[in-house]
Amino acid sequence: MTPETPEPGRPIPYGRQSLSPEDIEAVVKVLQSDWLTTGPSVERFESAVASFSGASHGVAVCNGTAALHMAMEAIGIGEGDEVIVPPITFVASANSVVFQRGRPIFADVEDGTLLLDPACVEKAITPRTKAILAVDYAGQPCDYAALRSLADRHDLRLVADACHALGAEYRGRKVGTLADITLFSFHPVKHITTGEGGMALTDDPALARRMKRFRAHGISTDHRQRTESGTFTYEMESLGYNYRITDFQCALGESQLSRLPAWLDRRRVIAHRYDEAFAARPGSPARLRPLAVSPAVSHAYHLYVARLYLQRLRIDRAGVHAALRRRGIGANVHYFPVHLQPYYRKTFGTHEGQCPVAEAAYPEMLSLPLYHGMRDSDVERVVAAVEDILAEHAS
Ligand SMILES: *Cc1c(COP(=O)(O)O)cnc(C)c1O
Repeated sequence: MTPETPEPGRPIPYGRQSLSPEDIEAVVKVLQSDWLTTGPSVERFESAVASFSGASHGVAVCNGTAALHMAMEAIGIGEGDEVIVPPITFVASANSVVFQRGRPIFADVEDGTLLLDPACVEKAITPRTKAILAVDYAGQPCDYAALRSLADRHDLRLVADACHALGAEYRGRKVGTLADITLFSFHPVKHITTGEGGMALTDDPALARRMKRFRAHGISTDHRQRTESGTFTYEMESLGYNYRITDFQCALGESQLSRLPAWLDRRRVIAHRYDEAFAARPGSPARLRPLAVSPAVSHAYHLYVARLYLQRLRIDRAGVHAALRRRGIGANVHYFPVHLQPYYRKTFGTHEGQCPVAEAAYPEMLSLPLYHGMRDSDVERVVAAVEDILAEHAS
């Protein structure tokens, strides 16, 4: 029961979850059990994601944004601390720094990959810098060798927003082992879903303890531990939030995780088909170019992002997007550069010209539909629609 775009001819979204009867059964089983929240499923899901990714500890929370916030608290970000972030990401990455009263410092991205450029990161480091928040945009891991060496030289923490990159690898190492803390989201458009959900992975037991406390009001024991040990007292050691995830959501996540390797394979097959379809041919120049992929990575392809060669077209990105929509193809744009969002301009005085590579990329970027349940016929519909529209408006 995974066929996804419901009927031929129906709109193809840019991303979509897959649920199996086993997933639904796993959720129902937990609904019939004693623990709806903070029970055995949460721990099982944490261990499953940690062991899949090669990390020692997992801390599951109610969404990826909460996981980011929890990571910023765990590494001690506070008033006025600077954290270096890329502008090409979802707003939640930078917002997590602000939640802790820190200051996001936007460092530009590399033109080919749109990943954080280590040279720009180095230039952005000041005596107030506490951490680098790398974003594995589209599902491609950043240059962690370069980022780690900068972090070590300047005594900074390295955190990975890997909400796009569950299952990706860098130089043969899984995402989850490349930073001090790695964050995932289980929103329905991501690789696996819990409805809403997120997780932090770390190898550091002290960071894991601190994150577990932050997830539950700053209290170091949970209701289940107190029930099992027969005590009623608890101590609140620091200020925390209620960022818990339910047991039935974690049952869904664990069930989904078992299909992740096959889903990653399918996403890679679709991405390679797009690469091949849009490559230049003799007598016909390419009218868009996919993002560059480093030979050092195994890409998880949360998104398939390509950049339009606007000078070869008589139409802009909004025009291409609208033409695709008319044909039932749900293209999307990821992302408007965060430093140009009104909130950041107003609050931190960020402005145009600060990240020229990201700003030049933005008008050209288009995310094509990519999800593991896409049928070959869906993929071919997207290819044909893109080719037709670009040929029709070629200059
Ligand atoms: C999805 C996403 C988030 C936030 O995750 P939620 O679970 O929606 O809160 C953060 N960063 C990036 C890069 C994301 O794609």
